[in-house]
Amino acid sequence: MTKSAVTYSRYSSAGQDPQTIQTQQAACHKWAKENGYTVIKDYVDEAASGKSTAKRYQFQQMLHDAKHGEFSAVIVLDSSRFARSATDSLVARQELAESDVRVISVTEGFDEETPEGKFMVTIISAVNQHTSDAMAARTRRGQEATMERAKAAGKGIYMGGTVSLGYLIDKDTRHFELDPVTAPVVEQIFEDFSKGVPVVDICEKLNKTGVKTAQGNSFTKSSLQNLLKNPIYTGLFSYSTTEIADGVPRIVSDEVFEACQARIARQRNVRKNKRSYLLASKIYCDVCDEWLIGTSATGNGGHFLYYSCKKAVGKDKTCNVKYICGEKLENAVLESSQALLTDENISLIAKAVSALSKKRSENPYIAQLTKEISKTEKAIENLLDQIESGNATDTISTRFQKREDELQILKAELKKVRANSKPLEESTILSFLN
Ligand SMILES: [Zn+2]
Repeated sequence: MTKSAVTYSRYSSAGQDPQTIQTQQAACHKWAKENGYTVIKDYVDEAASGKSTAKRYQFQQMLHDAKHGEFSAVIVLDSSRFARSATDSLVARQELAESDVRVISVTEGFDEETPEGKFMVTIISAVNQHTSDAMAARTRRGQEATMERAKAAGKGIYMGGTVSLGYLIDKDTRHFELDPVTAPVVEQIFEDFSKGVPVVDICEKLNKTGVKTAQGNSFTKSSLQNLLKNPIYTGLFSYSTTEIADGVPRIVSDEVFEACQARIARQRNVRKNKRSYLLASKIYCDVCDEWLIGTSATGNGGHFLYYSCKKAVGKDKTCNVKYICGEKLENAVLESSQALLTDENISLIAKAVSALSKKRSENPYIAQLTKEISKTEKAIENLLDQIESGNATDTISTRFQKREDELQILKAELKKVRANSKPLEESTILSFLN
């Protein structure tokens, strides 16, 4: 299967840029050839000086063309060619992702979209999960001790997280108390629902009066249902496996609560037989190189799962690979995957994963983001100075708001990138895989 790609190169006249357009393009073309891509177009912005992408005409053209689905990847020499500012980069990447176009950076190495890359990234996050699970076990022991105290006192203790609507937490004892403002609201919600008031009406009433959920959002059908299903309102404190009856102040009587549960049960439309397709978009049709997708059919007294070639079930119907038994195929793949996990292969995987993980920890994107964050913070400082000196105009306020928004996006992105960039030792990975 050949994939189409375009290259994007940029020459910065301001600095002394050692990479000419020609060398950038050559590197991108070489990568494309080695990785099974056909380059259908080269985009170039010569001497584009600005930090923002707004004036990079070819870049804009490339974003525009991406929407027509003629190519599936944009190859750049390094991510600084793609965009100078992290915000621009995020926005553009998002836009491209919406058209299923990926951005590949030649020098920054590993393409995490390849099957190998995805596999390794999966292992990295599994090991990270495992490590954090181990840490959780340690804190759990502390929590268990707290729960023992709570049980002895017959009173629930706040253990963190969102406090259910209707309650406040005593700062010293961490016991639950009724919130004089929201507890009556909760009581009314149960009352209305148990009497058959339509959910939409309840939500509308709440939202009109400005009441927010415990998370601070407007009420929706599902947040209302979550509230109605929460047994805390009958006075039940529950944390992990600990339950204490009358451990918190009661807001709703058992009768009203039960009536509400019965109504919820009647409303629930039971959706069964929802099954995930383990191998969907992980295997190809041998005949035409297309993805296999999961399909299901009911018949002969059961529900059956199949994998079918995309070209067999789609519009064109040019392939007849239609009914591969899902269970057999999945078992066969599972068995042969297990056979592949020999000691030798495990140590190879551990080596490769650890190398990738180190590379990710040196992610140049982190430095770029950090720089961008401090720049944005400085800009915000300057705008604040202007506002404080009484020169605030509407424009300044708008710019201030925009900068603040940008800062939030950047910080969230940095957190995400950092979380995935912790280097893992080979031994950690080995012990995980074993
Ligand atoms: Zn096929």
